[in-house]
Amino acid sequence: MGLDPEKQSLREEIERLAGILEEVSLFIHAHPEEGLREELARRKLVEVLAAQGFTVGPGPEGLPTAFVARYSQGGGGPRIAFLAEYDALPGLGHACGHNLIAAVAVGAATAVRRGLERFGRPGTVLVFGTPAEEGAVDDAGGKVYFVEAGFFDGVDAALMAHPSSRNAALGELSTGRVALEITFHGKAAHAAGAPHEGINALDAAILTFNAWNALRQHLREEARIHGIIAEGGVAPNIIPDRARIRMYVRARDPDYLEEVERRVRDCALGAARATGARVEFRYTARTYQSVMPNRTLARLYTDNLAALGVNLDPSEPGGGGGSTDAGNVSRVVPLIHPYFAICPRGTPGHSPEFARAAATQEAHRAALTTAQALAMTAWDLLRDPRLVREARAELEGAQGARNGGSPGSQP
Ligand SMILES: [Zn+2]
Repeated sequence: MGLDPEKQSLREEIERLAGILEEVSLFIHAHPEEGLREELARRKLVEVLAAQGFTVGPGPEGLPTAFVARYSQGGGGPRIAFLAEYDALPGLGHACGHNLIAAVAVGAATAVRRGLERFGRPGTVLVFGTPAEEGAVDDAGGKVYFVEAGFFDGVDAALMAHPSSRNAALGELSTGRVALEITFHGKAAHAAGAPHEGINALDAAILTFNAWNALRQHLREEARIHGIIAEGGVAPNIIPDRARIRMYVRARDPDYLEEVERRVRDCALGAARATGARVEFRYTARTYQSVMPNRTLARLYTDNLAALGVNLDPSEPGGGGGSTDAGNVSRVVPLIHPYFAICPRGTPGHSPEFARAAATQEAHRAALTTAQALAMTAWDLLRDPRLVREARAELEGAQGARNGGSPGSQP
């Protein structure tokens, strides 16, 4: 495996960081914090990045557990952002392995920073600490805030990697997601004595679910509608005056996602009309777009991983998949969000088994190799600005196609 001397030096740098990275990962794993409350994780990451020579500052306003770490050299050159996640799941701890995402970002960014210094190349390395990726908390979607606040303006590539039970470069099975809370307001009354005086908010919620069940037959295969009744009254002898649904709509295609969201709302409006209840809609998280992986970057990553002796698993058919706020980033900056295997094939994500796997030796070895491949991918871009332009042209082509223009047209 003939790595050139510069890439070999990045690789060795990450081996030297192994102890620090494992400590960061295990610390975050041992102190699971839900989205927007990741204070300990933030403090730990900021401390380590500052010690590695990064200048650390705040993230977008209103996102106190975000951060930005930066190192610039030579005034110019490509600007590469590594994305760190570090939020946990309620009740399950790090069952999505975000402790490892954070360690990979710190490792790759530190190695690239050292590389710039050692080999005298111009460029900027950033680490964006992006909280609340999991939709379990209200107002989730840290990366969407980064996008909206302009943090990705002028960034040439965004790189991250997510633990999984398999190795995959593209992660193209992700879906977009709308997170809605639907509240029906009715009127309480004695359920036996004066039911005709009441307006049943729970009935409106149940009718909404039944309307969705009827709608499903007429949706494309990629669409998902799923939810819970979070509130449905207080006692059997009181007509429920309030009922609350929490639900997600998912689809890959952003236009179709909008269309399904509209039809889902229509079902609730119809149920409100049928029962006389009043309906109120609220987004509980930012809308996530599906990931549009950059194939130029994915090719570089795949080649670098192969040079490190790791081959990707064959892609699996299927139209489902979870959602991530990395999707919103992928629509403004060339991004890759590959998966790296930390446990046997088929181990379910968001499970206690996955949480245990995220703290093993095997997981940390996989994280080191992933950090090396990501650092080498960043290095390809820093050394050859033509690749930066190629990745950007690919993104603009995709944007042009989505806006109805011809591939390759400017946005
Ligand atoms: Zn995750």
